[in-house]
Amino acid sequence: MERNLMDFTVTEDEQQILDLVHEIGRNEIIPQRAELDEKEEFPHKIFDKFREAGLFGTMFDEEYGGLGMGAFLSCMVSEAVAEYCLGVATAFGASKLGALPIIIGGTEEQKQKYLPSLASGEKIAAFGLTEPEAGSDVPNLSTMAEKKGDKYILNGTKQWISNAGVADTYTIFALTDKAKGARGMSVFILEKGMKGLSFGKLENKLGIRCSHTRQIIMEDVEVSEENLVGLKPNRGFIHGIKTLNASRPFIASMGVGVAHGAYKEAAKYAKERVQFGKSIINFQAIQHMLANMMVKIDAARLLSYRAAVYSVTDHPDTAKFSAIAKYYAAETAMQVTTDAVQVLGGYGYVKDYPVEKMFRDAKILQIYEGTSQIQLNEIGSYIIKEATTYK
Ligand SMILES: Cc1cc2nc3c(=O)[nH]c(=O)nc-3n(C[C@H](O)[C@H](O)[C@H](O)COP(=O)(O)OP(=O)(O)OC[C@H]3O[C@@H](n4cnc5c(N)ncnc54)[C@H](O)[C@@H]3O)c2cc1C
Repeated sequence: MERNLMDFTVTEDEQQILDLVHEIGRNEIIPQRAELDEKEEFPHKIFDKFREAGLFGTMFDEEYGGLGMGAFLSCMVSEAVAEYCLGVATAFGASKLGALPIIIGGTEEQKQKYLPSLASGEKIAAFGLTEPEAGSDVPNLSTMAEKKGDKYILNGTKQWISNAGVADTYTIFALTDKAKGARGMSVFILEKGMKGLSFGKLENKLGIRCSHTRQIIMEDVEVSEENLVGLKPNRGFIHGIKTLNASRPFIASMGVGVAHGAYKEAAKYAKERVQFGKSIINFQAIQHMLANMMVKIDAARLLSYRAAVYSVTDHPDTAKFSAIAKYYAAETAMQVTTDAVQVLGGYGYVKDYPVEKMFRDAKILQIYEGTSQIQLNEIGSYIIKEATTYK
């Protein structure tokens, strides 16, 4: 089911799901988030609650075991989870990210084989594009998939992969025709336990510490031709671009979520904190900070909703809307969480209040799934094209 573009009303069923997410957020995520962050523990117990509530299904179509509620509701769910913990939201969203190349480019058999267990949450996925020498410069990737008879042999290393080691299903970008560069890329489906597939150390991160990030190391990993997404080689570049266009609205929504969480903490604190005989919320400097937060969150939310509803269309501006939303929401999340620490003063700088963690967490939004500079490059490429039509 997809809605009319720019219709952002929520049905009763959708509201029930969002209420459930907030209930899990309050009862499960808030009590655990600081400890998970401190110990770098993956949120297994929270994922159990998500499974029980059917939340993994919000990200998948009905024919593959999902709830079929569309990109808009999926983004609202991501936003709601991120309001409580961006680390949990990242781990949750990374599973959808890992599934997207199959959703976008997979054959019907591949979809039926891999998606239902991801939609139920029984399995989780990871997305392997980045490499040590190929971050923003995706075309520079060097993981090879060499064809031998009816098999492919994969060799290479993927860097900074969310859910690596925890996930069961991996979508891996590799070169099937080196001479063609980026156009010689394909996506393969790998499964945990395959011979030659291993994982690097758990990265010790600044934020989103309960989301696990590791290298994926492939040494002569042998897969059948049936594990090539879409069964046709050299389609990986297109699958990658379409995947990022579809997933960036999720990142934007997560930015809105963490910013909203920080804003609420700051507003609550500003009402309670008394200095010079009055609540600090009565100082115009504090009010303006809070007002700026509200304005930016509202704008980022609308941009993320627009990007979400367009992400499932063939509209020519889909990629631009995704880049604008991802860029603006990431910048908003960083600014709002920084200002939230400021509103709390010294109390914002310590772990007794959640804004310290939100501030550390938010930084990743300007880096993963294309840095803020790369989003601006993408928007810039539209401007170059559009400028010739300006009268
Ligand atoms: C916690 C975490 C989780 C991640 N999860 C995943 C995942 O699940 N799957 C996956 O495939 N990847 C993942 N990534 C990788 C992420 O997408 C990359 O880190 C990101 O794309 C940037 O690449 P890089 O780190 O190599 O930085 P670089 O590309 O080396 O960039 C360094 C700096 O140079 C700037 N820069 C580079 N090129 C340009 C340019 N052309 N114009 C202007 N500025 C430029 C960048 O904006 C940045 O400021 C994750 C990363 C992190 C840190």
